[in-house]
Amino acid sequence: AGLGQFLAEIENRGAKDLYGHGSTASWFAEMAGLSRGEAGAVVKRALALNPTLALDGTEVPPVAPRTAAVAAQGLVGDERIDQILDILKRLPADTTAEDRAVAEKILGELAPNAGPRQLVEAEAKLLGWLDPDGNEPKDPEPKEPRREITLDRRKDGFWKLTGLLDDETGARTAAALEAHAQPRPVDEFGQADLRMKCERMGDAWAELLDLAIACPDQPGTSGYRTLVHVTIGLEELKSGLGTACLDFVGTMTAREARLAACDCLMVPVVMGTSGEPLDMGRLRRFVTPGQRRALNIRDGGCAFPGCHRKPKNCHAHHIEHWADGGPTDLRNLVLLCGFHHRLIHHGDWEVQMAADGLPEFIPPQYRDPLRKPRRNTLHHR
Ligand SMILES: [Zn+2]
Ligand SMILES: [Zn+2]
Repeated sequence: AGLGQFLAEIENRGAKDLYGHGSTASWFAEMAGLSRGEAGAVVKRALALNPTLALDGTEVPPVAPRTAAVAAQGLVGDERIDQILDILKRLPADTTAEDRAVAEKILGELAPNAGPRQLVEAEAKLLGWLDPDGNEPKDPEPKEPRREITLDRRKDGFWKLTGLLDDETGARTAAALEAHAQPRPVDEFGQADLRMKCERMGDAWAELLDLAIACPDQPGTSGYRTLVHVTIGLEELKSGLGTACLDFVGTMTAREARLAACDCLMVPVVMGTSGEPLDMGRLRRFVTPGQRRALNIRDGGCAFPGCHRKPKNCHAHHIEHWADGGPTDLRNLVLLCGFHHRLIHHGDWEVQMAADGLPEFIPPQYRDPLRKPRRNTLHHR
């Protein structure tokens, strides 16, 4: 305590100037043969435990008088004193002088019989007492997550997606994509899934979008699963030839628009030959939740033979497109995953409703010369 008082006095009187040192600590370091850091800690302790002088010469009581008292009796070591001073420094900036004094008294009285752990717990309790509505005490500063996505449409109609994700979001993205990016099992014709990893990830991305858009809480869709309008002429929609106009974006082929419009993945706006919007019975072509539930139960997943996809990954495909007059009812609907939906629209397979009311698929001739209808037997065993 004697040394501390001495150091505090030197600090107060500015005696350090006499010896050409910039601070009490550097003067003391040289005097005592200590490192600058060691000397700094001693001086810091000295200043906190001893009265100091304000600029006008009045005495300022020590920051930690109670701690100073137990320290003077030799009841606490330097480490514990430093811990208390650090805790006092971390008290919220708006803590009143009275509350600071109470906090210091509690810590000082605790110190002779406390280890570092008890002081940490005491700090948590003090913070809870000083700021009951504040953050959980001792919570590390929550880090602002860093995630950025940039999406640019190129002249060729492809989109360039780049981004940077924080560790957690990146891991969740990878897990979500991986779950949808598994290779398809080899089908009955021995056809393996030939997609590259990056292509499977791309398809998985499209499936995740379907899931997100199908979520009834999706903002701005009033419960419909649709976000994007595609404007297309009735002729183009029926024939799949020509182009369609996509909201804010540009054009897409009528073929793609026909697929997107099938399960109303996009809201189709169909135009007559003179450019007037046609009322195609907007609600009639939407599959109702009740119909969708019935479809999920009937097909149990993608109805394409050999496909494992679950209902939540499926579109409701109109066997006869609604643009061609096909009704939106169970006899004309079949569940297809994104991949097989595309295959049915763009490939050579055909789907029809069998006499028993279940969908069956007819392979192209080059697959099966007899074109024997096939069914998916995986979902209902
Ligand atoms: Zn379809
Ligand atoms: Zn499928």
